[in-house]
Amino acid sequence: MNASGPGQEAAPTLAQLTTIGVGGPVARFVEPESEADFIDAVHAADRAGMPLLVIGGGSNLLAGDAAFDGVVVRDRRRGIEVLPAAETQSGQHADAGEGLVTVRADAGVNWDDFVAFCVSSGFMGVEGLSGVPGTVGASVVQNIGAYGQEVATSVVSVRVLDRASGEVDRLGRDDMRFGYRSSLLKSSMYAAPAKPADSYFPTPRYVVLSVTFALRRGTRDEVAFGQLAKALGVRVGERMPIGEIRRAVLEVRAGKGMLEDPGRYATPWMRGCKDKGNVPIEGMDEVNAPGNATGNASGDTASSDTAGPAMAGAPDFDRHSCGSFFMNPILASDVAQALPEDAPRFDATQPNGQPGVKTSAAWLIDHAGFHKGFKVRPDAHAGLSSRHTLALTNRGGATAADIAELARTIQDGVERAYGIRLVPEPVVVGMDLR
Ligand SMILES: Cc1cc2nc3c(=O)[nH]c(=O)nc-3n(C[C@H](O)[C@H](O)[C@H](O)COP(=O)(O)OP(=O)(O)OC[C@H]3O[C@@H](n4cnc5c(N)ncnc54)[C@H](O)[C@@H]3O)c2cc1C
Repeated sequence: MNASGPGQEAAPTLAQLTTIGVGGPVARFVEPESEADFIDAVHAADRAGMPLLVIGGGSNLLAGDAAFDGVVVRDRRRGIEVLPAAETQSGQHADAGEGLVTVRADAGVNWDDFVAFCVSSGFMGVEGLSGVPGTVGASVVQNIGAYGQEVATSVVSVRVLDRASGEVDRLGRDDMRFGYRSSLLKSSMYAAPAKPADSYFPTPRYVVLSVTFALRRGTRDEVAFGQLAKALGVRVGERMPIGEIRRAVLEVRAGKGMLEDPGRYATPWMRGCKDKGNVPIEGMDEVNAPGNATGNASGDTASSDTAGPAMAGAPDFDRHSCGSFFMNPILASDVAQALPEDAPRFDATQPNGQPGVKTSAAWLIDHAGFHKGFKVRPDAHAGLSSRHTLALTNRGGATAADIAELARTIQDGVERAYGIRLVPEPVVVGMDLR
């Protein structure tokens, strides 16, 4: 287990561990290399009553500028295992059936490495989630979704450490209570939307150790999303090779600045977090080229760069974000009725289980007067992405306070215009963005 903290190696800042590149120093950083060490690290922090942040790719985290006075744990395991058919049929993974393959991945596996593995193995079901940053462990925390797919559809079970009992447990898909960007795990951290619960936050009660997926064997899958179909030149519902679907997803995402910056994997604290061999994200080639790496090869030494991702080429600040910053609001029908006629409306279920209407956070933001590229002041270091209304970005040198100022300005403006308070999608640590 690699550990750093007072009297040991230097610890990173959260700016160095997150895609948006802001956040203060951490008191102690631990990188367990086995499941037993991972469990020990969580137990030790909880027993000592220290704040615990289990971090993956840091792509759904906005951390404050003050020090995180606790332990940050990052799973160093990268195992992906195709389970034998006998195990699949034994009932251990009862949901898996004919034509399905069961694959287990460690929490620490980079999500897009997992997708690349599945696509190249001829396993269908996650190719639409190509290029979503982060890890397998966190994918089930917020039930990642994009281009007509959600991870929930492919999950069979999740092996977790329950911090309440201290026991390792198996949660089946139904136990996970997946919803729109939500799960049992995510809700265990919150008392109300964006209001951290008294215990566990900023890590769920259940720490993900590994995830077991059921995927379909095959090489041609349905194109489930209009924008993707357009990029592929086909109709929605048509079947295309999953490799081509993956390529199209990555292209569409690149056009919106919705891929992470590959340059971050050349920085000392991120090196080794992604498999370089998978060619999964456009730009990785440059990162892997000799001479482009920064820092030493071990990845253990603190970087002199404290301001976030170091770049392999020219920085694409549109990618220095947490992805979509606000959730699409799910409203009671009377609230939705009050919106202008042209506001998007989709059937959805409210958190209380009642039927509701989902609208678009991007539409609300844009129609409240905050357009792509918006900044609070012309010289501000934080701004909306120039390619995506929902992405709050670090334009270089931003602090967490700069991002928070931008977020609040948008929340206040949308509330003034439409009476709806937007809720941040990322886990906000050390700041209050309600
Ligand atoms: C450019 C960009 C594009 C994005 N596009 C999408 C998208 O299309 N769809 C989408 O759904 N999301 C998207 N996101 C958000 C993000 O990629 C996902 O939420 C992702 O799952 C976060 O993974 P992570 O490993 O980076 O989590 P982190 O940011 O490291 O952590 C987020 C939360 O998960 C918890 N967590 C991490 N690992 C574990 C574990 N092993 N066990 C328990 N809890 C854990 C953390 O404690 C924290 O509470 C995007 C983000 C960026 C930056």
